[in-house]
Amino acid sequence: MLKEALADADMVLVGIGEEFDGMELLRGNEEYGQICESAAAAGAQWAVPCINRYFLEKDERVKEAYRKLGEVLKQKNYFVITTCADGLIEEAGLKEERITTPCGSYDRLQCGAGCAGSVISAGDAVYQELKQVFTGKKNWRNVNRPKCGICGADMECNTLYAEKYLEEGYGESFQRYGKWLQGTLNHKLCILELGAGMLFAGVLRFRFEKIAALNQKAELIRVHSRLYQLPAELEGRGKGISRNAVDFMAEW
Ligand SMILES: [Zn+2]
Repeated sequence: MLKEALADADMVLVGIGEEFDGMELLRGNEEYGQICESAAAAGAQWAVPCINRYFLEKDERVKEAYRKLGEVLKQKNYFVITTCADGLIEEAGLKEERITTPCGSYDRLQCGAGCAGSVISAGDAVYQELKQVFTGKKNWRNVNRPKCGICGADMECNTLYAEKYLEEGYGESFQRYGKWLQGTLNHKLCILELGAGMLFAGVLRFRFEKIAALNQKAELIRVHSRLYQLPAELEGRGKGISRNAVDFMAEW
């Protein structure tokens, strides 16, 4: 049913939520817990996104899920909105201009004091340096933390969890997303919602339900281990699939 819905669609909107962020996996990882503790003890909480990435990169399952997603979307007119900031979506090999990341990205840094215009690409240097700390080759004290080019304050990852989150990091892609959405009206739109819980329901679940309700040719496919139900008004206009979204995509 899902494969037909996708084959049939002119446009595909994909939403990626919490089930893809790997946090459930990380919480049970002892080594992860120890490194987070050592970061906290050194006052280096800013590095937590990099610690997350270091461990998530080892998660072959989620990478496989992204690769499958890339295959599914290859020939399609798609747009992806994801609340995951870890950058693993790169595995899907999608067009960068068709992805928006409203919760930020580990790939960008911003001024910790919130200077407008301070968002830069993180580059690999900081991450490589931190990896040496995670593997015990370097001490937290010796990490060169990048500084803001405007005010000189310490930089941190440009994500929702920054003390003064700068939305300029994703603003442009979000505008593109809005325009793309306008263009979906009266088109056969397949909405594929993958593992979106209630944490960012305003940008995924509720928003997607509204988009589906407004377009009579839209179909909503909702995949989630527990929250897979569709609202009554979308009866017959989609399907709720009761599965973990990562498993679902990885086994596509
Ligand atoms: Zn600054």
